[in-house]
Amino acid sequence: MKFLFDWNGTIADDAGRACLATNAALISVGAGTIRPSEFDRNFLLPLDAMFLRLGVQPDRLQAAAAEWNSAMAGQPAPIRAGAADFLARLHGDGEFCAVISAAGADYLLAELRAFEVDDCIDVVLSGAADKVKALRELRRGEEAVYFGDTEYDMASAVAAGCFPVGVLTGYCPEEKLRAAGAQVIITDYTQLSGEDVRSMALARAN
Ligand SMILES: [Mg+2]
Repeated sequence: MKFLFDWNGTIADDAGRACLATNAALISVGAGTIRPSEFDRNFLLPLDAMFLRLGVQPDRLQAAAAEWNSAMAGQPAPIRAGAADFLARLHGDGEFCAVISAAGADYLLAELRAFEVDDCIDVVLSGAADKVKALRELRRGEEAVYFGDTEYDMASAVAAGCFPVGVLTGYCPEEKLRAAGAQVIITDYTQLSGEDVRSMALARAN
C-alpha cells in the first residue's frame, strides 16, 4: 500500500497560519478579509476557487495565490502531533510515502527539512493543481491511502481510487470531510501504524 499525504493541515499544523495568509492575500489584491472563526467554512481548494468565492477579481487570482504562498513560507508552523513518528515508522517499514500539495516547491522542501521528515518521503509533488491526476500518477494502479484535511482532498482521493482518510485540523469541519467521502477520521497520528491504516482500508472494503 502506498501512503500519500496532503501537506498543509494534514502534516503541517497550520490552519492559523493559513487564515493569516488568506487575509494577507485578500488585502494585497484589495478584497475584504475573513474572520478566523469562519476560516474552516471559507477555506477551499484550489486556491483560485477560494479567492474567486471571496470576491477576488479573475485577473488578480495569480497575485493572490503568490501572496498566499509567500505569507505561508514566511511564518513557521509546527508539525501535527505524532506525524513525524508515524512517517518514520512507515519509512522504517519500507513503505512508499509521498506528499502531494498545491503549495510551492521551495516552501514545501524547506518545511519537510524543518520537520526532519524529508528522509521519510520518497516523492514530493509540489504545485499539484489537479490532485486527482497527481494521485493517479503516484498510485499507478496500486492500493493507496490518501491523508487529507479538506473536502477537495477527500473527493480527489475517491476519484483517483485511493482510500480517503480525513484528518481533522481546522481547515474543514468533520461533516464536510465525511460528506466528501472520508472513510475514517483521525485527529492526530499518535500511535497510528501502517498496519492500522491497512486494517481500516480492508475493513471498509469488505
Ligand atoms: Mg490541507
